Amino acid sequence: MAINYSASNAPSPSTFPADGGGEQEPTNEELREWDRHHYWHSFTPMQAYEPLVIERADGAMLIDIDGKRYLDGAASMWCNVHGHNHPAINDAIRTQLDKVAHTTSLGMGNATTVKLARRLAEIAPGNLEHTFFSSDGASAIEVALKAAFQYWRQCARPRPEKTKFIALGEAYHGDTLGAAAVGGIERFHALFEPLLFDVIRFPSPDVRRQPAGADHFLRQLESLLQEHHAEVAAMVMEPLVQCAAGMVMHPPGFLRGVRELTRRYNVLLIVDEVATGFGRTGAMFACEREDVVPDFLCLGKGISGGYLPLSATITHGEIWKAFQGDADAGRTLFHGHTYSGNPLACAAALASLDLFKQEQTLERLQGTIAQLGEHLERLVAHPNVAHVRQCGLIGAFDLVVDKSTAAPFPLELAIGRKIARYALERGVWLRPQPHFVYVMPPLSITVDELDHMMNTIASALGALTALDHDA
Ligand code: PLP
Repeated sequence: MAINYSASNAPSPSTFPADGGGEQEPTNEELREWDRHHYWHSFTPMQAYEPLVIERADGAMLIDIDGKRYLDGAASMWCNVHGHNHPAINDAIRTQLDKVAHTTSLGMGNATTVKLARRLAEIAPGNLEHTFFSSDGASAIEVALKAAFQYWRQCARPRPEKTKFIALGEAYHGDTLGAAAVGGIERFHALFEPLLFDVIRFPSPDVRRQPAGADHFLRQLESLLQEHHAEVAAMVMEPLVQCAAGMVMHPPGFLRGVRELTRRYNVLLIVDEVATGFGRTGAMFACEREDVVPDFLCLGKGISGGYLPLSATITHGEIWKAFQGDADAGRTLFHGHTYSGNPLACAAALASLDLFKQEQTLERLQGTIAQLGEHLERLVAHPNVAHVRQCGLIGAFDLVVDKSTAAPFPLELAIGRKIARYALERGVWLRPQPHFVYVMPPLSITVDELDHMMNTIASALGALTALDHDA
């Protein structure tokens, strides 16, 4: 029920307590009720939602309002890097707060944001050195799409007929309309189709559907480019892993091959590292794993260590040049967000990058990745497990009724949800998926925590027959 202040019952300013507070803290039950009723959650069927209200967190551990502890098996939707509540990141945010919380990016800089732009230029692959900041991953994609489109109108040899985009099947680039247009997950975006621009779709190189090496898929991509390159502004893709598609992993060499082909056919390449960036695949950026320098690199999620909303679209000098000119020459990128380059978020990002060095995050991560690999290996033989896969600190497998055909469990058994509930009861938070299980914890997860997470999943699989009948 909305609180309706009609003229007769509207509180006069004098009825508010002078200290601006004084209201009793809600009980935990009230918080859960308000969570269910007032808080419309992302990607959550609200009728079935069972409140889980987190109060604080520490390292890889989330702690709810009742004090119960859960391992964060999805790194708070793939963004937490060094653990929650890390003192160095907390301090950096506090220090920035004592200077200024926010200044605009329209026509002025901020020392902290400028330093981050410089640091990103130092660590980004190849010659990528000009950063446009936004606040979330979808916006980073929007910027890349618009800048790529605009580039072809005002580059040295304009090609205004290049207006289309190639995107992968089951791609996910966020939920704003431009990002949704290049997205390819039916369940999320089909309803909005009348609002979305047309895209040339290249089927995802999913080796589960078609067990083949990169060359097979690249030959098909080349045919597509031969046919369409003249009208294509850019190809956009998630590198190595399409996370939201179901942790779909590409065959080695595919990303490198796409870079070679897009260059050969004069098509820009937008690489979406919103999920894979900042160590997730074992390297700072997935692009490095295949020695690729895209034309636009989109970053988000882990850029701030997973602390504050921040994203970035980074490009190189040739694109940058096309946007130079007199103020009234019409070459400006007319795009921006109020909180673009917010200094608090940038301070968190700088602290996170410092931690990569101080804590030798990438070096230590290799051991964690190997440990995850050993756990996954032990699941391969399970009769209800298929397509066990791993890329860096992402592990996943499909849940099947029949291993020989890889047929999934009927949807109505809600087997993925039951596994997630089983894990939750044992202190592990997994994001439930209908037909597969994945883990993507903070990179800082400890050996014992990872053992606990993976052993819990293994025991959930052991209890599968019981879960299966537990409606
Ligand atoms: N791109 C990829 C690859 C993602 O995985 C996501 C989010 O999961 C996005 C873009 C969208 O990011 P955001 O949710 O911050 O808008």
